[in-house]
Amino acid sequence: MSSQSENSDMKDVPGPHKRISNLMHQAGNRFCADCGTPEPKWVSSSLGVFICIKCSGIHRSLGVHISKVASLKLDEWSEEQVDALEKLGGNTLLNKKYEAFLPSNIKKPKPHTSIEDRSDFIRKKYEQLQFMECDDNSACAIVPTRGRSLSLAQSSSSCYTFHMENKKYDKAPTKHRIGNAFRNSWTRKDSEHKSSKKSSSLAGMVEFVGLIKVNVVKGTHLAVRDVMTSDPYVILSLGHQSVKTRVIKNNLNPVWNESLMLSIPENIPPLKVLVYDKDTFSTDDFMGEAEIDIQPLVLAAIAYEKSTVNESMQLEKFVASRDNSLVRDGVISLDEGRIKQEISVRLQNVERGVLEIELECVPLTQ
Ligand SMILES: [Zn+2]
Repeated sequence: MSSQSENSDMKDVPGPHKRISNLMHQAGNRFCADCGTPEPKWVSSSLGVFICIKCSGIHRSLGVHISKVASLKLDEWSEEQVDALEKLGGNTLLNKKYEAFLPSNIKKPKPHTSIEDRSDFIRKKYEQLQFMECDDNSACAIVPTRGRSLSLAQSSSSCYTFHMENKKYDKAPTKHRIGNAFRNSWTRKDSEHKSSKKSSSLAGMVEFVGLIKVNVVKGTHLAVRDVMTSDPYVILSLGHQSVKTRVIKNNLNPVWNESLMLSIPENIPPLKVLVYDKDTFSTDDFMGEAEIDIQPLVLAAIAYEKSTVNESMQLEKFVASRDNSLVRDGVISLDEGRIKQEISVRLQNVERGVLEIELECVPLTQ
């Protein structure tokens, strides 16, 4: 019990999840800010807009320096994060800001709008800030620093010009920027986003079939890259997206227990896992890699979604053998309505190291 609280009845104070649920039920937040789909279950925690799963895939492809997507249901929320989200004001207020000058010839997407048109609108709205109110300088000042190769001539927004003139801006030629985008996308982290660019404009054109939550559990007996030890971190990549765990210092048996979320593109590429040793003064050293076929997991999730089975069960088993890199048998299981797979994989192209990962497939209906 907090002694500074004036409220004697503490059980009436809602926790973060209850507060999130209250925010979700506010009138403006009951429809996707970008396409109007009812009951959106995702939010851009940096922009503050509540969005549907389809729009969330496009927001992700903008990069975390523009939009940081979180699940309202699946992610953990702290009081501080809910405070920050609440402060942004919700869909009604934010659409007034980001769509203040929506030209009459531009149609807002609808729930069934094509991925191309949806992507086009979302990029104009949040990346190019084409429809944004601009007579108020404070609105411009909170624009996230963006690096991108759009020519000024394309942008009718004076706000953007203001932003360009008043911020330090990377003047490298476009072709170099694109090269950087690919390199940087491997090492992108929230605090390092200043040099990261969107990896490809095509990324937003991909239709997503679901989401995969990857829990990077731990590494065992990893390779030594510094004198005695290593500072390992893991990069996960799926199609155009890549995410990264934190660095654990001086540890060959690191425990991350870190959950990262990726959108699953329609063609279901393999999940690539790369382990690196963080070096402060030189390029990070490679510590092994693995490729995980997530297709069986995704197909199991899709099949489950259509079935009526409800009890926990084992769905499929991948037997560890010399032909694959599995250390233990990998089992896809149904656990309280969730399709999961635990994997223990031997890292490839390195002398040693095993990585334990848990996968959970989240269908689009979540
Ligand atoms: Zn939407």
